[in-house]
Amino acid sequence: MNFSELPFDPQLAEGLQYMGFEKLTPIQEQAIPLVLANKDLIACAQTGTGKTAAFLLPVINKIAASKADYTDTLIIVPTRELAIQIDEAMQGFAYFTSVSSLAIFGGNDGIAFEQEKRALTQGANIIISTPGRLISHLNMGYVKMDKLKHLILDEADRMLDMGFSDDLNKIIKHLPKERQTLMFSATMPPKIRTLAKNILREPTEINISLSKPAAGVTQSAYVVYDKQKAPILHGILKDKQFSSVIVFCSRKESVKNLERELFRAKFSVSAIHSDLEQSERNEVLRNFKNKNLQILVATDILSRGIDIDSISLVVNYDVPGDAEDYIHRVGRTARAETTGQAITFINEMDQRKFKRIEDLCGYEINKIPVPEALGPAPAYTPEKKHSNPGKDKGGRSYKPRRFQKNK
Ligand code: AMP
Repeated sequence: MNFSELPFDPQLAEGLQYMGFEKLTPIQEQAIPLVLANKDLIACAQTGTGKTAAFLLPVINKIAASKADYTDTLIIVPTRELAIQIDEAMQGFAYFTSVSSLAIFGGNDGIAFEQEKRALTQGANIIISTPGRLISHLNMGYVKMDKLKHLILDEADRMLDMGFSDDLNKIIKHLPKERQTLMFSATMPPKIRTLAKNILREPTEINISLSKPAAGVTQSAYVVYDKQKAPILHGILKDKQFSSVIVFCSRKESVKNLERELFRAKFSVSAIHSDLEQSERNEVLRNFKNKNLQILVATDILSRGIDIDSISLVVNYDVPGDAEDYIHRVGRTARAETTGQAITFINEMDQRKFKRIEDLCGYEINKIPVPEALGPAPAYTPEKKHSNPGKDKGGRSYKPRRFQKNK
């Protein structure tokens, strides 16, 4: 189905044309007619499916038609990055319309707070906010949501994982009961279903989950001891011409250490983690998106929700704890039908976790032998219980945390 077949406002259609949007993605085909028909919706969909446009376009269209001069739509998201990204998409789609929006995400200066206050009191049409910051404004008593028509929760599962459940309930209490609610979530654990039951009315359910990595991703793995990870990574980064690489680590400390270590080895690298100021994070992301930076080392902040095109390589420096997180991480590459590579380092303790990932994918992921110069490597025996975390296979002591620190 093409966008030209939808009954969209001509100014919205013009914005879409400028952005090069022609054909609807599957989630857009399913969701847009439902949103236009004022139905509540629960959608299982991940970043990369086109979900942002699936909720923004019909809402912008309705606001343009009603010529609303009040806050019509509240979009709640887990992270600042996602708030900014949705606001940027919004600016593109609504460019030729008179629909206004503002992203509210905290961590900025007093001027930003005042600007947000103005948007909230004067009725920006669409407010995109992280839960904590919105609560700060709600507590001041001037937020006007009495005419709100749409509530959208994006990455709902992540919000619950981050402990925003109480904040969400507090916010929802401030909203009119007569409204349309749309909930998007990458996964559907029971707590998401409970939340849906409480805040949605007879929702239609859509499921576009990518339960497997995209076909264009070449996946492989090295079965290693921790100390072998860094030299293998160096070899990969030096040998092959990857122009845009994301390396995921599970912990903030590992991210910082690896950044330092790659920087010392003269790679073009920066890191993104929760200790950075918002402006610093934006700067790093901008440099990476503009290809001024080859390597981005990150914690899971980035694995969901953030849309960066044409990444040639994703490295999982650690195996992600949750098998679905692997799909999210690997999903950073081979977007929009291009090809990419994903390489995972599996230490002995992570072998079971990696097996769960292979089970979720439904196939075994190719294991590349560790270069001989780096000495013997562990065998891949995920069914075996690796019960002695203090020793590696050769009986030498290793402490993953300290090892990372000393690198
Ligand atoms: P999302 O899943 O919302 O993060 O979208 C992923 C990427 O796909 C974004 O860069 C969108 O701009 C792009 N996109 C979404 N829908 C379409 C479409 N129908 N045609 C072309 N690009 C799209």
